Amino acid sequence: MPRGSTVQSLNVLFFPFLAPGHILPMVDLAKLFAARGAVVTFLTTPANSVLIQPTIDRFNSSATSSIRLHFIPFPFAAVGLPEGCENMSSLASFTETQKLVKAVALLRHPFDLVLKELRPDCVVTDVFLPWTYEVATENGIPRIIFEGSNFFASCAMDSIERYKPLEGLPPESETFVLPALPHHIEMLRSQVSDPSQINSSMTDMIEMIKLVKEVGPKSYGLVVNSFYEMEKDYVEYYKKAMGRKAWHVGPVALCNQEEADKSERGGENRKDRVLKWLNGRKRGSVVYVCFGSLCDFTAAQLTEMAYGLEFSGHPFVWVVRNMSDEWIPEGYEERIEGKGLIFHGWAPQLLILNHEAVGGFITHCGWNSSLEGITAGLPLVTWPLFAEQFFNERLIVDVLRIGVAVGSKVFGFRPEDRPIVNASALEATVRSVMGEGEDAVERRRRARELKELARKAMEEGGSSYNDLGILMQELMERKAQSF
Ligand code: UDP
Repeated sequence: MPRGSTVQSLNVLFFPFLAPGHILPMVDLAKLFAARGAVVTFLTTPANSVLIQPTIDRFNSSATSSIRLHFIPFPFAAVGLPEGCENMSSLASFTETQKLVKAVALLRHPFDLVLKELRPDCVVTDVFLPWTYEVATENGIPRIIFEGSNFFASCAMDSIERYKPLEGLPPESETFVLPALPHHIEMLRSQVSDPSQINSSMTDMIEMIKLVKEVGPKSYGLVVNSFYEMEKDYVEYYKKAMGRKAWHVGPVALCNQEEADKSERGGENRKDRVLKWLNGRKRGSVVYVCFGSLCDFTAAQLTEMAYGLEFSGHPFVWVVRNMSDEWIPEGYEERIEGKGLIFHGWAPQLLILNHEAVGGFITHCGWNSSLEGITAGLPLVTWPLFAEQFFNERLIVDVLRIGVAVGSKVFGFRPEDRPIVNASALEATVRSVMGEGEDAVERRRRARELKELARKAMEEGGSSYNDLGILMQELMERKAQSF
């Protein structure tokens, strides 16, 4: 039994997939469990400590309960990744994902040893670590899946798998409707993952996806970073159609209330320049542009983006992962002086989104970013690229009606697989979202309403607060029975 554990306290181990978009919300979730009395261990590999150590240290110094970080070594040599490359965001290209997935699968034995040593009452592990189900079950420990996405996206994927709307589609049809969902949801065929992009040499990835589907229904249940009021139709639909236990416990990022929590989330703290810049702008005037921790673009696309933002006439903060600047148009930086800020590297996103000068968010629809934008009460410009981002776009645009699509039409992991969205499309979409038209005003009103609902959901007595309580209580009862 680990330090601090008693028969009365719930002993939970958290283990995320090795990507910022998985690690960061799971740290938030771990904090929520610990704040409610659980004994929490957070498992990852050593190089990922930079993303989370400051957050966990601060939590431990201020809370009555603490989170213990536990590391297992990353098997670089076995998969041919350079030392220190232990995270999706540090891979040189998409094709290297295969190596990371392979390395992660090799963590099976160390994970088993950790379970034998710590004997947690349950494990909360990432949806992309399906083999943890088998190891946990062999050790008699229930595995709860952390679903990095939302109920809507899960229902949409289930609709496609279950009813196969693409199979009977005439070749000339560009769009299809997702069957049986509570709303009329229409998508382009090209926005759905094409299995041929995962080529047959990526066997570990294919195996992993197969196992995700296989062990999903067998796992104890899943926790979802979402809140009931935002997508109640889909929470109900999910539980009925899938018949699985699920708890909505978000937005988990709302546990980051202090400025330091927001600015250090994800590691680096480079807030001063951007805050100074934002402090000088009018309330609600700035568009924040960020495409998460993994997305890359071709130089040609970045150049179009640069013009689109400039021509929109709205001030912007633009986070660019790509450190080179060969795509920056001649004289651009001088022209945008005072109107736009290009931020290279890792930005303090929570701090920026919640700054009063920010009035809109151009997002790739990664679920964390989308939900962080919703929680900040912002209307969104949606620019999905891959994963479940195209489903999130439909949730934002069609169901919540707080966003406008920029017109990203093709699912593509690699930047060169995606057609260019031109400057004029971006300019028009930004103008529409940031403007004063009736639609824009309505969108902003709905976005503010969702912000309030999100906050209430996480407060004591709110829907997410209660659902987490229900889950913890159920696990406690299970534990009591096993004694
Ligand atoms: N993020 C950040 N600064 C950055 C880029 C990303 O803080 O410069 C955070 C963001 O707040 C979110 C996460 O990283 O919590 C990205 O997750 P998301 O699901 O949005 O996208 P992904 O990176 O998985 O594509």
